[in-house]
Amino acid sequence: MNNSPNPESNQVIETPEERKQRFLLEFDKPFKCDKCNERFKKKKYLREHKAEVHSY
Ligand SMILES: [Zn+2]
Repeated sequence: MNNSPNPESNQVIETPEERKQRFLLEFDKPFKCDKCNERFKKKKYLREHKAEVHSY
């Protein structure tokens, strides 16, 4: 049965290239907003973002 869905197709397989991209992203922007998961290069930007977007 070739047309049966592959059970492994649900799994997210990360290629080495994707891993590298993710690593670079985290390296480049290590400050992540815990409210919306946006990333920032500097802590100052994160603080400004929080004050602007998540202030209440
Ligand atoms: Zn945020």
